[in-house]
Amino acid sequence: MTDLFLERKNGYAELSIEESIRMEEYCRGYMKFLDAGKTERLCVDEAIRLAKDAGYVEFAPGMKLEVGDKVYLNNRGKELILAYIGEESLARGVQIAAAHIDAPRLDLKPNPLYEDTDFAYLKTHYYGGIRKYQWVTIPLELHGKVCFPDKPPVDIHIGCDEGDPRFVITDLLPHLSADQDAKKLKEAHPGENLNLLIGSRPVDDGEKGSKVKQQILEILYEKYGMTEIDFISAELEAVPAGDACEIGLDRSMIGAYGHDDRSCAYAELRALLDISDTPRRTAICVLADKEEIGSDGVTGMQSDSFDTFMEDICSQQGVSLRACYSNSFCLSADVTAAYDPNYSGVFEKNNAAYLNRGVGLCKYTGSRGKSGASDAGAEVLGYMRKLLAKNEVIWQIAELGKVDEGGGGTVAKYMANRNIDTLDAGVPVLSMHSPFEVVSKLDVYETYKTALAVFKAASGVKY
Ligand code: MN
Ligand code: MN
Repeated sequence: MTDLFLERKNGYAELSIEESIRMEEYCRGYMKFLDAGKTERLCVDEAIRLAKDAGYVEFAPGMKLEVGDKVYLNNRGKELILAYIGEESLARGVQIAAAHIDAPRLDLKPNPLYEDTDFAYLKTHYYGGIRKYQWVTIPLELHGKVCFPDKPPVDIHIGCDEGDPRFVITDLLPHLSADQDAKKLKEAHPGENLNLLIGSRPVDDGEKGSKVKQQILEILYEKYGMTEIDFISAELEAVPAGDACEIGLDRSMIGAYGHDDRSCAYAELRALLDISDTPRRTAICVLADKEEIGSDGVTGMQSDSFDTFMEDICSQQGVSLRACYSNSFCLSADVTAAYDPNYSGVFEKNNAAYLNRGVGLCKYTGSRGKSGASDAGAEVLGYMRKLLAKNEVIWQIAELGKVDEGGGGTVAKYMANRNIDTLDAGVPVLSMHSPFEVVSKLDVYETYKTALAVFKAASGVKY
């Protein structure tokens, strides 16, 4: 009998035992990816390592590509574009999955180091949308790169190996926090107070007022050959310390920093690498940087880097980039807000995404009257439903919160603006943008299956 009603049910009702085993295996791989990729640079490194294992080679402009070739383009160490050249001409379009690998964090300022009352600190400038009170009193790691004018760059990774020291931003004790407690949540921890505590032990023979700072500078010089001025040509990011872990007695969820958007980035990367036969349509995977601050800059989705790569491969087949784009499809894989019963007031129950109900399809993002959304057409949703049904993917419809409650954006509109049919879809997340986000294994796995379905599709959207 025809189902007249849309029944929104828990995905475990449809998950077979075989699929459940594959889901667990997939999630183990995902958790390793999270631990290895705490910053965009580390994600690129890890993705390249996995891609090479799957036979991908580095792309150089002008390189002759044949059907079945697998290449990757490393854009400045922070964005990665991978392509599996398909059987059809690029004129008929490509299948793209785009996600971002940057995540909210605390960047060091260009001149960060100072001493105050026998403590050494590093000043930070937060990156992306954070709720500042969540970032105090938690252990933090420091990752990044220092570039010198006269010698090779040095990578810095502190806090991730066993025995490493870690860093922290302190907070008031409840005994003395009456004034702070009375403030609005977003005003209780001003951005300029997010100062990383990095030392307290003075050198013996230093100048008064900077003996602790001198100790830190001596350590930095000894370990990394850097002096205070070298912070200016460094990019150092403080991120939550600790590995991903299972959540719940039933181990059904994963807690970690950076599910936004590495749960989707890994899904599309793994899907691309897992395609065994040459795809009919060329499969493209984009792991973009800078989404959390608007997708601007040379490594963001608005950058010409993507168009330059696509033009390079199109020109080899004598295809115009515009023709390729107009026949292409893009899955903009990004996380969405999961319904949280503790904060039910901000969600609209009929359209919210729920944990364990599968990948969430978002027709539109944006805020207020869909401002800033690319708003996928009915044809695009229809196309995706067909793909998901064919590939037995568990999915749900998703909207990020009640109308006028807030909103958000993804890379979708930057792909759609290129005249590429684009649909947002991704993993529902609890505590999004916090230092410790929670997702369900089932949703993470179904997002991988969604990316697989997109790469295997025989055509783009039909009108
Ligand atoms: Mn995101
Ligand atoms: Mn985000």
